[in-house]
Amino acid sequence: MALTKEDVIQMAAEANVKFVRLQFTDIFGVLKNVAITVEQLEKALDGEMMFDGSSIEGFVRIEESDMYLKPDPNTFAVFPWRPREGSVARLICDIYNADGAPFSGCPRNTLKRVLSEAAEMGYTMNVGPEAEFFLFLTDESGRPTTITHDKAGYFDLTPVDLGENARRDMVLTLEELGFEIEASHHEVAPGQHEIDFKYDDALDIADKIMTFKFVVRTIAQRHGLHATFMPKPVFGIAGSGMHMNQSLFKGEQNAFYDPTTPDQLSAEAYYYIGGLIKHAKAIAAIVNPTVNSYKRLVSGYEAPVYIAWSAANRSPLIRIPSKKGMSTRIELRNPDPACNPYLAIAVCLKAGLDGIKNKIQPPPPTDKNIYHMTPEELAAENIESLPMNLYEAIKELQKDEVVKSALGDHIYNRFVEAKLIEWDRYRVQVHPWELEEYLEKF
Ligand code: GLN
Ligand code: MG
Ligand code: MG
Ligand code: MG
Repeated sequence: MALTKEDVIQMAAEANVKFVRLQFTDIFGVLKNVAITVEQLEKALDGEMMFDGSSIEGFVRIEESDMYLKPDPNTFAVFPWRPREGSVARLICDIYNADGAPFSGCPRNTLKRVLSEAAEMGYTMNVGPEAEFFLFLTDESGRPTTITHDKAGYFDLTPVDLGENARRDMVLTLEELGFEIEASHHEVAPGQHEIDFKYDDALDIADKIMTFKFVVRTIAQRHGLHATFMPKPVFGIAGSGMHMNQSLFKGEQNAFYDPTTPDQLSAEAYYYIGGLIKHAKAIAAIVNPTVNSYKRLVSGYEAPVYIAWSAANRSPLIRIPSKKGMSTRIELRNPDPACNPYLAIAVCLKAGLDGIKNKIQPPPPTDKNIYHMTPEELAAENIESLPMNLYEAIKELQKDEVVKSALGDHIYNRFVEAKLIEWDRYRVQVHPWELEEYLEKF
């Protein structure tokens, strides 16, 4: 049931809300806030709160900087960790131009636009993310380290895990905010955790991922820990991914499920996989958006390296979980939690819809462990690699008209411009590895 403006005003009064944070996400996936007092809530809900867009990276030029925030009443939530008297709430907003049109640089508008393309074809999209993160100790001055005291591994239940209390607190807080937590467990690496919440409508999930990261960081801090969603914080151990389970629905029916085929996948599911595979290299630029993202996509740590799919094993880019019926879904395994969830979902959906529209057949599934295949075997099966670094991924994005059109010109241009600068800043550095390797040798 959709909430109205009046509902929100009443809920805010009942919860003794004093401050409301109007939230939105910039192109690079960073959560932004404009705080107002509850007295301004009605005006805000009418979409009359203006802010200066030129102060946000990648948004607008100075001369066109007046932007309006339009809160989505359904996103109203009171922060459970704040005082009950004079509490703090948030509303997630879309950004509009001064002329009343949706701002094309707003990632949330962008996802809505692609979702409406899906709706025109009769589909709604569900997404279930699996975000992983590390909990690290902070030093005397409160700065994050990459040190963890826990020695627990995957699914371990030992008392040595300092992060266990923090994670329990995170789960409880997320539940207070309306999340349905399906699983929460220690991951493979020391200090690494995963919390999974129930799949939901794509827009809702993108909002939830932003809230999730914010909650995890906030609660970690309260436990004296630093939570990071950096994809590969420590060399030599697993990195953090954010697998994205995706499915299309037609009304109440899962459009990926067809009980009459041997593997119970519909033709649409196959085409969707075909679209994801066809556009995988360009999609990487969005779902693996940092220099560091590509340090995770190496073999040996359950992160994908090759563009392939399978129903059985976990080494390829795309896996089809065995649960079928209403749970039939496609799991894309390269996204990492540094991505902008609105844009990540938008480009995946666009690629999948391209697959359906153009009946793109995926290659045959790969049921071997691809990490163990020789370069000759990979070549014989036409299995290509994901981009090796951010620069290669940006080059692929520049060639892919479908993925570009999902982003729209504004976001595409600003994103590529910023990421090429990011790559160049990295490229000119002299890294510790080089000193280790060359300082004495030459
Ligand atoms: N951490 C792994 C990755 O980088 C995933 C591990 C898992 O969930 N099986 O994607
Ligand atoms: Mg998982
Ligand atoms: Mg995991
Ligand atoms: Mg998974």
